[in-house]
Amino acid sequence: MTSSVLIIGAGVAGMTAAVELADSGVKTILVDRLPTVGGNALDLYKAFPTDDCFYCFEGNRWRPGIRKCFYRSALTDQPNIDLLVDSQIEEIKGSPGKFSVTIRKGPVYVDPRKCTMCGLCITHSKAFKLLSPQCQPQAVVYDPSMADEGAKKAENECPSRAINLSAEGSTQTVSVSDIVVATGFHEMQPVNMDEYGYGTHPNIITQLELAKILDPNAENGGALVRPSDGKPAKRVLMVQCVGSRDENYYPYCSKICCVFALKHANIIAEERGEASVSVVYMDLRTYDTYEDYYRRARRAGVEFIRGRTMSVKPNTDDTLEITVYDSLLDKYLKFSVDLFVLSSALEPQPDSNRIIKALGLGQSSGFAAPLDTATHGEVVIGEHVYACGAALGPAEVPDSVTQARAVVSKILQERM
Ligand SMILES: Cc1cc2nc3c(=O)[nH]c(=O)nc-3n(C[C@H](O)[C@H](O)[C@H](O)COP(=O)(O)OP(=O)(O)OC[C@H]3O[C@@H](n4cnc5c(N)ncnc54)[C@H](O)[C@@H]3O)c2cc1C
Ligand code: SF4
Ligand code: SF4
Repeated sequence: MTSSVLIIGAGVAGMTAAVELADSGVKTILVDRLPTVGGNALDLYKAFPTDDCFYCFEGNRWRPGIRKCFYRSALTDQPNIDLLVDSQIEEIKGSPGKFSVTIRKGPVYVDPRKCTMCGLCITHSKAFKLLSPQCQPQAVVYDPSMADEGAKKAENECPSRAINLSAEGSTQTVSVSDIVVATGFHEMQPVNMDEYGYGTHPNIITQLELAKILDPNAENGGALVRPSDGKPAKRVLMVQCVGSRDENYYPYCSKICCVFALKHANIIAEERGEASVSVVYMDLRTYDTYEDYYRRARRAGVEFIRGRTMSVKPNTDDTLEITVYDSLLDKYLKFSVDLFVLSSALEPQPDSNRIIKALGLGQSSGFAAPLDTATHGEVVIGEHVYACGAALGPAEVPDSVTQARAVVSKILQERM
């Protein structure tokens, strides 16, 4: 029996599983469809529960090399990890313990082993981008849909000859004994929900988009600005449960959006002194110790309104007029705001369904379903198939890391 493990998804969960299996001597193939590891956490600035900068979040507390920062982990240097970014699962065949998986890779336009991140190509063409200073592998990425005249110039002038604009994709077939689904979540784009106006005005954004604005590595250095014109955003209205707990979209509670909305409200109220924040909610679900985030927000002057948003109307000065029904006062209230932030449902990654189906396994609202549904946090989803992190449903980082470790322990137990 072959002993390699395939991990699909290199977010916090997949990376943790890969590093810990590799440390135990197990060969792992870690695949991500994006050009960098990190998943959703790459864009999140500060992390609850500790408010550490996400780049320094202690996801794997005791591991040398990744104690300080999981983006600077040993991933690319660990000989037991074969990291395949920019790669997709094309086909899964075989049987439990003896899977044969075809992976489509690339095209690799920028060779990460050669790129020194000097930035010259970015000055020549908009098609080149540095996704994050913490990206792994450490390299710029190229988007062929943005190709312009400067791209060819960049290819010719790259000091380390790292660019190949004629690169083509390739496929490889690997034999693995176990598969770990760590495909994470996707933030729903609520384009069909007229009451929120998402997609009709640039100042109507989701929480993930707000996190990117607040990130000090962003274009504006983390200043709270309106996407429409870059002017400071002085008035922010957030609305909870957009598409979650809604029979027309997702009937489940997305579990962590109350906490990250409060985290963002606190960052704005505590660090961006001139802006005020209001939050429209149905229920505030601050599980575990997160009640403290709610208390902090109250102390910092964040306003809470129990009710629903009824309509959004843009004004000529790029502010938005929002009508809210306050269910405690039984009144309609009007707000004029610079940013309208939607706590949108966390849904399964579109492609994870295909992978789960290819393995003939069950789902729960599109997420991977544990075999033992009675045990919360169970990670076994099939024979020699496991899932961890947000692939199992909306999850915070500490839970994702704990589940990844449970996967590692199950795989190691099987081999004893
Ligand atoms: C706005 C916001 C704020 C948050 N703030 C916090 C916080 O402060 N603290 C906290 O603990 N948590 C926070 N979270 C939650 C945190 O993002 C998740 O816990 C974490 O991202 C889960 O990691 P993961 O590896 O399971 O999934 P993901 O981060 O979603 O990573 C999944 C990876 O799988 C890859 N992938 C998906 N499908 C495929 C495929 N078919 N083939 C190959 N690769 C694939 C993706 O590209 C991605 O890299 C926040 C979430 C949001 C939306
Ligand atoms: S010019 Fe070459 S080495 Fe410099 S950042 Fe671009 S690809 Fe990397
Ligand atoms: S966590 Fe809060 S905002 Fe998210 S779905 Fe549940 S109640 Fe709604």
